[in-house]
Amino acid sequence: METREPEVIRDKEAMRRWSRGVRSQGKTIGLVPTMGFLHDGHLSLVHQSLSLADVTVVSIYVNPGQFSPSEDLSTYPSDFSGDLAKLAAISSSVSDAIVVFNPRNLYDYDGDHGGRKKTNGGVGGRVVSCVEEGGLGHETWVRVERLEKVLCGKSRPVFFRGVATIVTKLFNIVEPDVAMFGKKDYQQWRIIQRMVRDLDFGIEIVGSDIAREKDGLAMSSRNVHLSGEERQRALSINRSLSMAKASAAQGKTSCTELKDMIIQELVGVSARIDYVEVRSITTFT
Ligand code: AMP
Repeated sequence: METREPEVIRDKEAMRRWSRGVRSQGKTIGLVPTMGFLHDGHLSLVHQSLSLADVTVVSIYVNPGQFSPSEDLSTYPSDFSGDLAKLAAISSSVSDAIVVFNPRNLYDYDGDHGGRKKTNGGVGGRVVSCVEEGGLGHETWVRVERLEKVLCGKSRPVFFRGVATIVTKLFNIVEPDVAMFGKKDYQQWRIIQRMVRDLDFGIEIVGSDIAREKDGLAMSSRNVHLSGEERQRALSINRSLSMAKASAAQGKTSCTELKDMIIQELVGVSARIDYVEVRSITTFT
Protein backbone atom coordinates (compact mmCIF):
# COMPACT_ATOMS: atom_id res chain seq x y z
CA MET A 1 0.00 0.00 0.00
CA GLU A 2 1.33 3.45 -0.88
CA THR A 3 2.08 5.58 2.18
CA ARG A 4 2.14 9.34 2.19
CA GLU A 5 3.60 11.31 5.08
CA PRO A 6 1.25 13.72 6.81
CA GLU A 7 1.67 17.47 6.35
CA VAL A 8 3.94 18.96 9.02
CA ILE A 9 3.14 22.43 10.38
CA ARG A 10 5.83 24.09 12.49
CA ASP A 11 4.55 27.62 12.97
CA LYS A 12 1.79 28.33 15.48
CA GLU A 13 0.13 31.01 13.34
CA ALA A 14 0.10 28.63 10.35
CA MET A 15 -1.40 25.96 12.61
CA ARG A 16 -4.20 28.27 13.71
CA ARG A 17 -4.85 29.32 10.08
CA TRP A 18 -5.03 25.67 9.05
CA SER A 19 -7.50 24.86 11.84
CA ARG A 20 -9.72 27.82 11.07
CA GLY A 21 -9.70 26.89 7.37
CA VAL A 22 -10.79 23.36 8.22
CA ARG A 23 -13.49 24.63 10.55
CA SER A 24 -14.82 27.01 7.90
CA GLN A 25 -15.48 23.91 5.79
CA GLY A 26 -17.69 22.61 8.61
CA LYS A 27 -15.22 19.92 9.67
CA THR A 28 -14.43 18.89 13.23
CA ILE A 29 -10.88 18.68 14.62
CA GLY A 30 -9.39 16.12 17.00
CA LEU A 31 -6.12 16.80 18.85
CA VAL A 32 -3.66 14.20 20.13
CA PRO A 33 -0.94 15.95 22.15
CA THR A 34 2.30 13.92 22.34
CA MET A 35 5.99 14.33 23.03
CA GLY A 36 6.87 12.08 20.09
CA PHE A 37 8.78 8.78 19.87
CA LEU A 38 5.41 7.33 18.99
CA HIS A 39 4.36 3.80 19.90
CA ASP A 40 1.11 1.85 19.60
CA GLY A 41 -0.30 3.59 22.68
CA HIS A 42 -0.05 6.96 20.92
CA LEU A 43 -1.38 5.44 17.71
CA SER A 44 -4.45 4.07 19.52
CA LEU A 45 -5.24 7.68 20.53
CA VAL A 46 -4.83 8.76 16.89
CA HIS A 47 -7.22 6.02 15.73
CA GLN A 48 -9.74 7.06 18.35
CA SER A 49 -9.47 10.69 17.32
CA LEU A 50 -10.00 9.75 13.66
CA SER A 51 -13.18 7.95 14.66
CA LEU A 52 -14.50 10.99 16.54
CA ALA A 53 -13.45 13.94 14.35
CA ASP A 54 -13.08 14.67 10.63
CA VAL A 55 -9.39 15.58 10.87
CA THR A 56 -6.75 14.92 13.51
CA VAL A 57 -3.83 17.07 14.59
CA VAL A 58 -1.02 15.11 16.25
CA SER A 59 1.23 17.51 18.12
CA ILE A 60 4.81 16.39 18.65
CA TYR A 61 6.53 18.67 21.13
CA VAL A 62 8.75 17.91 24.10
CA ASN A 63 7.47 20.50 26.53
CA PRO A 64 10.29 22.03 28.58
CA GLY A 65 7.71 23.58 30.93
CA GLN A 66 6.93 20.25 32.59
CA PHE A 67 10.49 19.12 33.32
CA SER A 68 12.36 20.12 36.44
CA PRO A 69 16.16 20.51 36.16
CA SER A 70 16.74 17.05 37.64
CA GLU A 71 14.59 15.36 35.00
CA ASP A 72 15.37 13.97 31.55
CA LEU A 73 14.54 16.84 29.17
CA SER A 74 17.83 16.59 27.26
CA THR A 75 17.71 12.80 26.95
CA TYR A 76 14.01 12.38 26.19
CA PRO A 77 13.90 9.92 23.24
CA SER A 78 13.00 11.21 19.79
CA ASP A 79 12.69 9.85 16.25
CA PHE A 80 10.78 12.38 14.19
CA SER A 81 11.15 10.60 10.85
CA GLY A 82 10.09 7.31 12.47
CA ASP A 83 7.04 9.09 13.94
CA LEU A 84 6.07 10.42 10.50
CA ALA A 85 6.43 6.95 8.99
CA LYS A 86 4.11 5.48 11.63
CA LEU A 87 1.53 8.19 11.02
CA ALA A 88 1.93 7.76 7.25
CA ALA A 89 0.98 4.11 7.62
CA ILE A 90 -2.29 5.27 9.22
CA SER A 91 -2.74 8.19 6.81
CA SER A 92 -2.62 5.95 3.78
CA SER A 93 -6.00 4.57 4.78
CA VAL A 94 -7.54 7.91 5.68
CA SER A 95 -5.86 10.14 3.05
CA ASP A 96 -5.35 13.68 4.36
CA ALA A 97 -7.01 13.31 7.73
CA ILE A 98 -3.83 13.68 9.82
CA VAL A 99 -1.51 16.67 10.15
CA VAL A 100 1.45 16.97 12.49
CA PHE A 101 2.07 20.10 14.55
CA ASN A 102 5.75 20.19 15.43
CA PRO A 103 6.65 23.63 16.79
CA ARG A 104 10.28 24.40 17.56
CA ASN A 105 9.69 26.33 20.77
CA LEU A 106 6.29 27.33 22.13
CA TYR A 107 7.84 29.60 24.75
CA ASP A 108 9.61 31.86 22.28
CA TYR A 109 7.59 35.05 21.95
CA ASP A 110 8.59 37.01 18.86
CA GLY A 111 12.20 37.39 19.84
CA ASP A 112 11.39 38.49 23.41
CA HIS A 113 13.83 36.40 25.43
CA GLY A 114 13.75 38.41 28.62
CA GLY A 115 17.32 39.62 28.04
CA ARG A 116 18.68 36.08 27.78
CA LYS A 117 20.54 34.56 24.88
CA LYS A 118 18.35 32.54 22.56
CA THR A 119 19.69 29.07 21.81
CA ASN A 120 17.72 26.12 20.54
CA GLY A 121 14.90 26.50 23.03
CA GLY A 122 17.42 26.77 25.87
CA VAL A 123 19.64 29.22 27.67
CA GLY A 124 23.38 29.71 27.27
CA GLY A 125 23.74 26.76 24.90
CA ARG A 126 22.03 24.29 27.23
CA VAL A 127 18.58 22.86 26.79
CA VAL A 128 16.89 23.78 30.05
CA SER A 129 13.53 23.53 31.65
CA CYS A 130 11.94 26.91 30.96
CA VAL A 131 10.66 26.84 34.51
CA GLU A 132 13.80 27.58 36.47
CA GLU A 133 15.48 30.20 34.33
CA GLY A 134 12.74 32.70 33.79
CA GLY A 135 11.10 30.79 30.96
CA LEU A 136 12.45 32.89 28.07
CA GLY A 137 9.81 35.52 28.78
CA HIS A 138 7.06 33.16 29.86
CA GLU A 139 5.41 33.72 33.24
CA THR A 140 1.78 32.61 33.01
CA TRP A 141 0.92 29.17 34.38
CA VAL A 142 -2.31 27.21 34.63
CA ARG A 143 -2.65 25.36 37.93
CA VAL A 144 -5.32 22.87 38.91
CA GLU A 145 -4.73 23.62 42.53
CA ARG A 146 -5.76 20.52 44.45
CA LEU A 147 -5.51 17.71 41.90
CA GLU A 148 -1.96 18.66 40.91
CA LYS A 149 -0.52 18.39 44.41
CA VAL A 150 -1.22 14.73 45.17
CA LEU A 151 0.09 11.40 43.81
CA CYS A 152 2.78 12.16 41.14
CA GLY A 153 2.55 15.87 41.98
CA LYS A 154 4.19 15.28 45.35
CA SER A 155 7.54 14.32 43.87
CA ARG A 156 7.14 16.39 40.68
CA PRO A 157 6.01 19.82 41.92
CA VAL A 158 6.16 21.66 38.55
CA PHE A 159 5.00 18.83 36.34
CA PHE A 160 1.24 19.30 36.21
CA ARG A 161 1.31 23.07 35.94
CA GLY A 162 3.63 22.54 32.94
CA VAL A 163 1.22 20.03 31.44
CA ALA A 164 -1.89 22.16 32.06
CA THR A 165 -0.15 25.19 30.60
CA ILE A 166 1.12 23.52 27.42
CA VAL A 167 -2.24 21.83 26.85
CA THR A 168 -3.92 25.23 27.21
CA LYS A 169 -1.48 26.67 24.68
CA LEU A 170 -2.14 23.79 22.27
CA PHE A 171 -5.91 24.20 22.72
CA ASN A 172 -5.62 27.91 21.92
CA ILE A 173 -3.46 27.30 18.85
CA VAL A 174 -5.21 24.25 17.39
CA GLU A 175 -8.76 25.06 18.58
CA PRO A 176 -9.89 21.40 18.52
CA ASP A 177 -13.38 20.05 19.16
CA VAL A 178 -12.11 16.95 20.92
CA ALA A 179 -8.76 15.97 22.49
CA MET A 180 -7.42 12.53 23.45
CA PHE A 181 -5.48 11.68 26.60
CA GLY A 182 -4.23 8.26 27.68
CA LYS A 183 -5.30 6.72 30.98
CA LYS A 184 -1.70 5.57 31.35
CA ASP A 185 -1.18 9.11 32.65
CA TYR A 186 -4.32 8.91 34.71
CA GLN A 187 -3.76 11.94 36.92
CA GLN A 188 -2.94 14.05 33.85
CA TRP A 189 -6.20 13.04 32.14
CA ARG A 190 -8.27 13.93 35.20
CA ILE A 191 -6.44 17.26 35.63
CA ILE A 192 -7.09 18.23 32.01
CA GLN A 193 -10.75 17.25 32.37
CA ARG A 194 -11.06 19.47 35.44
CA MET A 195 -9.20 22.36 33.80
CA VAL A 196 -11.53 22.22 30.78
CA ARG A 197 -14.55 22.24 33.05
CA ASP A 198 -13.29 25.01 35.32
CA LEU A 199 -12.09 27.30 32.52
CA ASP A 200 -14.99 26.63 30.11
CA PHE A 201 -12.99 25.32 27.19
CA GLY A 202 -15.49 24.09 24.60
CA ILE A 203 -13.50 20.91 24.05
CA GLU A 204 -14.49 17.31 24.73
CA ILE A 205 -11.78 15.41 26.62
CA VAL A 206 -11.60 11.70 25.89
CA GLY A 207 -9.67 9.24 28.06
CA SER A 208 -8.16 6.29 26.15
CA ASP A 209 -7.42 2.85 27.57
CA ILE A 210 -3.85 1.87 28.34
CA ALA A 211 -2.05 0.07 25.50
CA ARG A 212 0.25 -2.64 26.87
CA GLU A 213 3.02 -4.87 25.63
CA LYS A 214 2.14 -8.59 25.46
CA ASP A 215 3.64 -9.16 28.91
CA GLY A 216 1.55 -6.41 30.49
CA LEU A 217 4.03 -3.51 30.60
CA ALA A 218 2.31 -0.22 29.75
CA MET A 219 3.79 1.17 26.54
CA SER A 220 5.82 4.30 27.14
CA SER A 221 8.41 6.25 25.14
CA ARG A 222 10.74 6.12 28.14
CA ASN A 223 10.72 2.29 28.20
CA VAL A 224 13.67 2.37 25.75
CA HIS A 225 15.80 3.60 28.64
CA LEU A 226 15.10 0.44 30.70
CA SER A 227 17.71 -2.30 30.80
CA GLY A 228 16.44 -5.86 30.33
CA GLU A 229 16.50 -6.39 34.07
CA GLU A 230 14.75 -3.10 34.86
CA ARG A 231 12.10 -3.87 32.28
CA GLN A 232 11.48 -7.23 33.92
CA ARG A 233 11.17 -5.60 37.35
CA ALA A 234 8.83 -2.94 35.94
CA LEU A 235 6.27 -5.67 35.26
CA SER A 236 5.66 -5.72 39.01
CA ILE A 237 3.68 -2.46 38.70
CA ASN A 238 0.96 -3.95 36.53
CA ARG A 239 1.15 -7.27 38.37
CA SER A 240 0.70 -5.72 41.82
CA LEU A 241 -2.17 -3.48 40.71
CA SER A 242 -3.93 -6.38 38.98
CA MET A 243 -3.61 -8.50 42.11
CA ALA A 244 -5.11 -5.73 44.23
CA LYS A 245 -7.89 -5.21 41.72
CA ALA A 246 -8.75 -8.92 41.76
CA SER A 247 -8.74 -8.96 45.58
CA ALA A 248 -11.00 -5.91 45.70
CA ALA A 249 -13.37 -7.58 43.24
CA GLN A 250 -13.49 -10.57 45.60
CA GLY A 251 -14.58 -8.33 48.45
CA LYS A 252 -11.35 -7.24 50.14
CA THR A 253 -12.16 -3.61 50.90
CA SER A 254 -9.52 -2.61 53.42
CA CYS A 255 -7.39 0.09 51.74
CA THR A 256 -4.52 -0.69 54.08
CA GLU A 257 -4.54 -4.35 53.14
CA LEU A 258 -4.74 -3.56 49.42
CA LYS A 259 -1.87 -1.08 49.73
CA ASP A 260 0.24 -3.57 51.67
CA MET A 261 -0.38 -6.21 49.02
CA ILE A 262 0.92 -3.85 46.31
CA ILE A 263 3.90 -2.72 48.38
CA GLN A 264 4.88 -6.30 49.13
CA GLU A 265 4.90 -7.19 45.44
CA LEU A 266 7.00 -4.14 44.56
CA VAL A 267 9.43 -4.63 47.42
CA GLY A 268 9.79 -8.22 46.22
CA VAL A 269 11.63 -6.95 43.12
CA SER A 270 13.56 -4.29 45.10
CA ALA A 271 11.57 -1.44 43.55
CA ARG A 272 12.06 2.05 44.96
CA ILE A 273 8.52 3.11 45.79
CA ASP A 274 7.47 6.68 45.10
CA TYR A 275 3.92 6.21 46.37
CA VAL A 276 1.18 3.64 46.73
CA GLU A 277 -2.17 5.22 47.55
CA VAL A 278 -5.83 4.33 47.34
CA ARG A 279 -7.92 7.29 46.23
CA SER A 280 -11.18 8.31 44.59
CA ILE A 281 -10.88 8.00 40.79
CA THR A 282 -12.27 11.49 40.16
CA THR A 283 -11.54 13.73 43.15
CA PHE A 284 -8.32 11.99 44.33
CA THR A 285 -9.57 12.28 47.90
P1 AMP B 1 3.49 11.34 25.84
O1 AMP B 1 4.08 11.40 24.47
O2 AMP B 1 4.15 10.33 26.72
O3 AMP B 1 3.34 12.70 26.46
O4 AMP B 1 2.01 10.79 25.65
C1 AMP B 1 1.09 11.44 24.81
C2 AMP B 1 -0.29 10.90 25.07
O5 AMP B 1 -0.30 9.50 24.80
C3 AMP B 1 -0.73 11.07 26.53
O6 AMP B 1 -2.11 11.40 26.57
C4 AMP B 1 -0.48 9.70 27.11
O7 AMP B 1 -1.29 9.40 28.23
C5 AMP B 1 -0.83 8.82 25.93
N1 AMP B 1 -0.18 7.51 26.07
C6 AMP B 1 1.15 7.26 26.24
N2 AMP B 1 1.37 5.94 26.39
C7 AMP B 1 0.15 5.33 26.34
C8 AMP B 1 -0.29 3.98 26.45
N3 AMP B 1 0.54 2.99 26.67
N4 AMP B 1 -1.61 3.74 26.34
C9 AMP B 1 -2.50 4.76 26.12
N5 AMP B 1 -2.13 6.06 26.01
C10 AMP B 1 -0.84 6.34 26.12
